[in-house]
Amino acid sequence: MSMQFAVTPTDHPTSDKARAEILANPAFGKVFTDHMVTATYTEGQGWHDGVLTAYGPTLVDPASVVLHYGQTVFEGMKAYRQPDGGVSLFRPERNARRMAKSSERLALPQLPEELFLESLELLVKQDQAWVPNGEGASLYLRPFIWATEVGLGVRPSASALYQLIASPSGNYFSGPLRPVSLWLSQEYTRSAPGGTGAAKCGGNYAASLIAQQEAIANGCDQVVFLDAGEHRWLEELGGMNIFLVLDDGTLVTPEVSGTILEGITRDSIITIAKDLGHTVEERRVDVDEWRKGAVDGRVVEVFACGTAAVITPIGALRWPGGEAVAGTGEPGTITMKLRNALMDVQYGRAEDTYGWMRRVV
Ligand SMILES: *Cc1c(COP(=O)(O)O)cnc(C)c1O
Repeated sequence: MSMQFAVTPTDHPTSDKARAEILANPAFGKVFTDHMVTATYTEGQGWHDGVLTAYGPTLVDPASVVLHYGQTVFEGMKAYRQPDGGVSLFRPERNARRMAKSSERLALPQLPEELFLESLELLVKQDQAWVPNGEGASLYLRPFIWATEVGLGVRPSASALYQLIASPSGNYFSGPLRPVSLWLSQEYTRSAPGGTGAAKCGGNYAASLIAQQEAIANGCDQVVFLDAGEHRWLEELGGMNIFLVLDDGTLVTPEVSGTILEGITRDSIITIAKDLGHTVEERRVDVDEWRKGAVDGRVVEVFACGTAAVITPIGALRWPGGEAVAGTGEPGTITMKLRNALMDVQYGRAEDTYGWMRRVV
């Protein structure tokens, strides 16, 4: 008994002219397309009432579980315009699986993979005119599930809402690609063994904001976190994984250990890098390996990666009273090679030898 999505398009679509103006200069996550998808979960009944409707506010009871206890998970992915005018998704089944895993960790109902994929196809088809053209531009898709049960008792919600919204996006960091600087958080951690660090949940981001504020106050773009136990091992940024490039071309990235978010971009880069002849080491990475390596020349490039920003070169690492800059501090050649190789697959400029792309339009 699979749920069917009912389609009720908006009666007030954005005009072609207004949409063209938005697409000419999309910011990140500020403007949303004409439609959204919603499905309801009720204990005993499962998923039901799947609908595609006009984008708009949802009525929320102030006693909804999500508002008090943060029981919610999300995903982030993109639809890419292809050279022939079509539109494709990148490894969407990975997002489906990860959202199910996140849901399990947050004691939320899991949305079956086929319903997740169907909802994406439905919305991207409906709002295909919103997929921008141009370098680094895409339609950002945000699926999420939140606890809707009304009541202040602390227990898993017996009901939930799945929603999918879409936002045309340009480059995540506006302007030409420039290396970002990182603040090495001394006080805060993002994740601890047994915690929720491997799940994509709102609370992780809420908990990272104060550290991000501290990074900005110290003149840095982003924060980078160390492990909670020893405060020594590199973990990740607030929302991106991290790689070091060594002077012999080896890539090093923190291993998946339950405290970092297993990025799909991270996984894709590991695959591409190996195919391009690089050795890739997934292991614990001492932050001093970076600090010392930046001085003695062993670490030549550092970059962060995630769906939103793809691959972002990292310039300076800063901490109270100190700074390390790997390589020249400018975008590295291996960083840029990997970035281009990944984007060439996503934008259909290179052959999809891994079967990563899922054609939607
Ligand atoms: C989403 C996310 C990433 C990147 O994952 P991708 O699948 O590559 O987009 C990395 N770290 C955190 C904390 C995240 O939430």
